[in-house]
Amino acid sequence: MPGKKTIETEPSVKAADDEKALRLIADLVEYAKQKLYLNKYDAVYATNQLLAEFGFGAPSAETGNPGELQSDILDPLVAYAVERGLTSPEDALLYETRLMGYVTPSPGQVITTFDDIAASKGAEAATKYLCDVSVNSNYIRMTDIKKNLKWNAKYPEGDLTITVNLAKPEKSNADVARAKAMPQTGYPKCLLCLENLGYHGNARHPARETIRIVPMYLNDEPWFMQFSPYVYFDEHCIAVSETHHPMAITDSTFVRLMDFTDLFPHFFLGSNADLPIVGGSILAHEHYQGGRKALPMFSRPVREHYVIPESPDLSVGILDWYNSVIRLSSPSRASVQRAASRILEIWRSYSDESVGVLAHTDAPHNTITPIACKESGQYVLYLILRNNRTDEKHPYGIFHPTEDMHNIKKEGIGLIEAMGTFILPGRLQEECRRIREILTSGQAPDFKSISAPDHPLSKHFDMIVQLVSEYGTSNTNADANKAIVERINSTCVKILKCTAVFKSDASGKEAFGRFMNRIGAEKA
Ligand SMILES: [Zn+2]
Repeated sequence: MPGKKTIETEPSVKAADDEKALRLIADLVEYAKQKLYLNKYDAVYATNQLLAEFGFGAPSAETGNPGELQSDILDPLVAYAVERGLTSPEDALLYETRLMGYVTPSPGQVITTFDDIAASKGAEAATKYLCDVSVNSNYIRMTDIKKNLKWNAKYPEGDLTITVNLAKPEKSNADVARAKAMPQTGYPKCLLCLENLGYHGNARHPARETIRIVPMYLNDEPWFMQFSPYVYFDEHCIAVSETHHPMAITDSTFVRLMDFTDLFPHFFLGSNADLPIVGGSILAHEHYQGGRKALPMFSRPVREHYVIPESPDLSVGILDWYNSVIRLSSPSRASVQRAASRILEIWRSYSDESVGVLAHTDAPHNTITPIACKESGQYVLYLILRNNRTDEKHPYGIFHPTEDMHNIKKEGIGLIEAMGTFILPGRLQEECRRIREILTSGQAPDFKSISAPDHPLSKHFDMIVQLVSEYGTSNTNADANKAIVERINSTCVKILKCTAVFKSDASGKEAFGRFMNRIGAEKA
């Protein structure tokens, strides 16, 4: 009988698959013992949780032998779960995170271990531990992060770091539709709330069974630190307020930033500004960005030195950087704090019409992007002066990239970009490939069709016209690539210069000098 064979082999195939899944579970637990510091008691516990998840009665008789986490363990284990109807292909990532949650040490255990390491080996070893847990638990998905294209752009006025972000997958229309259909529960309130700790996620919200945090007090308020899942630079971490309240730049901001650098002197911490256009993407929940001082702005010298007579221990300077940065440093924390508060108070209401800086129109426009760090025992505070005013000619912002640069970057310019680390949209990879094709085709491009609004390169039309007139269309692949990358780099420089409230021309420099005098600083 034709059907008979299938009926007979099915149970044995299932048994073989089950046996394979049991071995994968053993591999996963062994991986966690080796890479996530899972102790032997928690390993037994995790094994039983996984057996329940998959509906197995007893574990594999063999000890696990973990290979590569993603390809050797998680991919086949999740495929098995999809086959058994335990999850769907659309929810595979949520399910995978749930599995990793079983084998990642509990939040309380991670905090205890972090504190133990901090006490015995210091803060730097402790943050290294939390970073390792965050990577090895796949909370930071390094296999995705490694897909990012990253390069340095060298300029005498300051190098830039540029990343094309391919780690964040573009959402498909089906994903968007699924997210739309999900009822909004309002829980957790946002991506940063403490309630994300262990949250199972859904089509709208990432699963967070693997996030681990460490609590701390900043300005005597409960905050916590976590690593960023996106790793825009080395050991990129986020300090988050335990309460969901909006971003605000106040005197307390400086206190919190410097409290953090007292706790973690090997890290910087900076706050996005508290206004749209010049702020970050999440303004609803107060949080700061920090990590290793790997961002280009930190390596820039002071361009002009100033003194504030009543604070002789304070070094004040205008930084030699694309936008408008005041650098304060002193062995005295109180001096830095006092000067920063004074600068903030004055800047909030400071206008200089000669350079287009207006503090108020229909709403307040002046704010600051502050960044704190420690250097050779000194407290250092960088204050990037920002203004988010728009007018008819600049609907996107007077101190924001104009429309001709939006093909490269349209979003707000937050602190990471303001410091010279650009995160560009993943779409650029495919668009650059198509532009490269034009520059190597040996034929005149069909400009009419490229200019049509529905053409995939229409937003790059002006750039393509310029590239073709400058380099022609008979380039080698390498030359075409070089021309495109150079164009992206120079656009990023232009974007940064747009964010300067005081430009680097003579009138901008004079205006900056007037502001320095207004805060009580005299040229050294
Ligand atoms: Zn929140």
